Amino acid sequence: MYEVILEREDCTMCGNCVEIDDTIFTFDSDDIATIIGAERDDDVDEIEVDDPEVYKEAADNCTGECIEVYDEDGNPA
Ligand code: SF4
Repeated sequence: MYEVILEREDCTMCGNCVEIDDTIFTFDSDDIATIIGAERDDDVDEIEVDDPEVYKEAADNCTGECIEVYDEDGNPA
């Protein structure tokens, strides 16, 4: 299991994550990116996933550097 977070306050609204997979990422009503199905705590989206690959691709292309993926030991994946 991997944990993915999206720190929404750092989102530049570039749209790269949504272009990579719009079934996972979308823009919320405030026009800032969100992870579909994630929990939100203090404007940080958090979700646990089995397969981190698309999230890692989004993180690599995130201009706000606000998407992070961690393995089950809490290390960056
Ligand atoms: S790639 Fe990053 S900065 Fe761009 S819209 Fe998605 S979360 Fe925001």
